Amino acid sequence: LSERSPESFLGELLAAGLLALSGVDGVYGRREAFDRVSDAVDALVLRETAEDGAELIRFPPVVPRRTIEKSGYLASFPNLAGSVFGFEGTEGEAVELAARVQRQEDWSEFQTPIDLMLTPAACYPVYPWVAAAGPLPENGRLIDVQSYCFRHEPARDPARLQSFRMHENVRIGSADEVFAWKESWISRGTALLASIGLGAEKVVASDPFFGRAGRMLSVNQVEQELKFELVHPIAGEKPTAIFSVNYHQDHFGHDFGIWTREGEIAHTACFGAGLERVTLALFAKHGIDVADWPDDVRACLQLNSADGHP
Ligand code: AMP
Ligand code: ZN
Repeated sequence: LSERSPESFLGELLAAGLLALSGVDGVYGRREAFDRVSDAVDALVLRETAEDGAELIRFPPVVPRRTIEKSGYLASFPNLAGSVFGFEGTEGEAVELAARVQRQEDWSEFQTPIDLMLTPAACYPVYPWVAAAGPLPENGRLIDVQSYCFRHEPARDPARLQSFRMHENVRIGSADEVFAWKESWISRGTALLASIGLGAEKVVASDPFFGRAGRMLSVNQVEQELKFELVHPIAGEKPTAIFSVNYHQDHFGHDFGIWTREGEIAHTACFGAGLERVTLALFAKHGIDVADWPDDVRACLQLNSADGHP
């Protein structure tokens, strides 16, 4: 399995009727069998985290530009960000725009950035929302989010998407509370993946901070063990991160003004499951036909209903 290249795995998934091409690398349609499994993974994560009494909230896959500016994302990952543009010109400019499109010429001068960007990780809309509620309640908060995320990293690799869904839990509280919570996800995430037949390995990881200055940030992140991933083979030489846990310390608490009841800057951490990546790991591990998967794996994912979505 691990000898299969990402590109050839993509070919298999297309041939098996699991994915569909869109015309742009990293953007694929999910066909029925794939979609059923990825919805089942989403539901599995929700069942697991609902036990903790997480507050559920769903944001659309766009986020105020101000949120991204405040978070420092554009300093760290300018290459991955996606901005939303709109037309705010005159009628004459609209005619010129359409004419340029017709002639397949550049029409970008008629586009202006609007107040929105594409959500880069499901947790971003949470921080300003929590900050606006004032000081945290006792024991902090735990919030369940799920969203499409966008990252401008086109590749012919079914596991490196430009648009994908992330199901996250965000823990916001005191340094001790948040540290203990994120540590608990090492064993908890491993057990959750084991329940669907995926033997994942924990690795200390870093984010791809942009540029030479960014490399220092990555080194610091590893030294302080601020990020770990649970990795599993999908395709290619190296295993792929399917679950991630990020400990931001007081970074977002500081940027957005989130305070504990005791008046300390809140710490935050998030657990994130990549729905497409977990789904791909399942197909890579158990085979391209869900009917052939082990009974206990299908049972755990509640995939046994004969028709329709679970
Ligand atoms: P991160 O915010 O980078 O820690 O990513 C959280 C999770 O999202 C990862 O564990 C992956 O499962 C998933 N993920 C990140 N980047 C991508 C991508 N380009 N395509 C698909 N899934 C991704
Ligand atoms: Zn997050």
